[in-house]
Amino acid sequence: MPSQDDVIAAIATAPGHAGLAVVRVSGGLAMRVADAVFDGGSRLAAAAPNTTHHGWALWPAAAEGAGRAGGQGPAARAVLDEVVAAVFRAPRSYTREDVVEFSCHGGRLPAERVLAALLHAGARLARPGEFTLRAFLNGRLDLAQAEAVADLIHAETDAARELALSQLAGSLSRRLEGLADRLSDALAEVEARVDFAEDVGGVEVPAHVVAAIAAVAADLVLLLEGAPYARAVREGLRVVLVGRPNVGKSSLFNALLGEERAIVTPRPGTTRDLVSETLEVAGVPVTLVDTAGWRAGGDEAEAIGVGRARAAAEEARVALWVVDRAAPLEDEDHRIATCLAGKRVLVALNKSDRPAVLERARLEPGLSTMTHDTVEVSATTGLGLGPLREALGRLLGAAETHGALAAAVANPRHIEALERTRDALARAARAAASGLPGEIVALELREGLSCLGEVTGRTLGADLLDRIFSRFCVGK
Ligand code: GDP
Repeated sequence: MPSQDDVIAAIATAPGHAGLAVVRVSGGLAMRVADAVFDGGSRLAAAAPNTTHHGWALWPAAAEGAGRAGGQGPAARAVLDEVVAAVFRAPRSYTREDVVEFSCHGGRLPAERVLAALLHAGARLARPGEFTLRAFLNGRLDLAQAEAVADLIHAETDAARELALSQLAGSLSRRLEGLADRLSDALAEVEARVDFAEDVGGVEVPAHVVAAIAAVAADLVLLLEGAPYARAVREGLRVVLVGRPNVGKSSLFNALLGEERAIVTPRPGTTRDLVSETLEVAGVPVTLVDTAGWRAGGDEAEAIGVGRARAAAEEARVALWVVDRAAPLEDEDHRIATCLAGKRVLVALNKSDRPAVLERARLEPGLSTMTHDTVEVSATTGLGLGPLREALGRLLGAAETHGALAAAVANPRHIEALERTRDALARAARAAASGLPGEIVALELREGLSCLGEVTGRTLGADLLDRIFSRFCVGK
């Protein structure tokens, strides 16, 4: 818990020229520190909660430190800005402490000078995420909700914003608390039997408790199934365009973006470096990467481009493989298929406005090694572009969480903790089903509960808070 007189301050808005910049102060003595730099005719310490006060931010009086400017008039002290001070009183504030937010004029200097004055008056500069950390430590938010604040700030699509907002509102936390309650019930029953039978030796776990554990494990598996898509919504995903030269990769790249971003010419080997742009597909911020066409020969620059294309394809989890439907398959296509084995691949059979030459059966052996979908398109006429986008959405997993994105799990820290929970429950269920003593089942259940509690912060590893909140911006 932060100490009562540890007052933190920071600029809460982004740097740059804008209408307003907000400087935030929080802590047990926040009102005193704020009063030392504010002159609005009356003291903020005496102000009613949730009120705003127009006035002037002044450099604190020399002798007073964290105190008020006493008998000195404003004229004797440097005026820093004209401000509006918003007063929030504990516990009804963002941090559950006393908070003052100064709305200054936007731009670097007014807010910086007000912040410097607050630091001079006894506040210290807040660390990244420290306001939200205090909200967590003071019990206003659980850890998953606190992390949702950072997600909301970084959301790049409406789906990501909605996901973060519902997590902030507690939908994931409630879902997990529900699972934790059911597990606690199961654990209590197992422990009661173990205690009761202490003198008799090991006890078996009754069938209805085994079923309850298995049901929680099944719910977790369901929750984790939607995780890859939710994670893609939260973090974005790279989709790499791969294909031979001249099959229409750059044309398709431009068509999907709806703009002429990559250079298209009838000459093979035009795209040499990686070209990337972001577009939204089914709520996922997709970074689409156009790459050089795979072929041997070409000049030195093209060879380097092809090397980069191969590396990008190897690293990618999801690829858009463009195949020319109006030409026969070539050896290079088979090499591409080998590189894409095991990945999620959307195959665009391009140039479908022209007569089909490609023998699809020859593609099959390669396709069978990847998770794939195939769509006929024409980058030049736009035919099939809609279905191509839909297929890409499906490949990203959009269908798996359809309608349930609100309580989905998207944060890798949460996913990892829930995977450990699932594994512990699987061990518990196995132990119980094979008649092992209740003590062993209870051990695994406690482990599962502990992992589950990491998500909302009920159970915490030592360095976890630092790791989580250091990713926030200052002032949040
Ligand atoms: P890349 O080398 O794979 O990036 O291919 P480009 O996008 O540069 O296209 C190579 C040539 O194929 C250009 O002349 C394009 O106009 C043409 N092209 C691309 N897509 C289509 C298509 O769907 N239909 C037809 N008929 N031509 C296309």
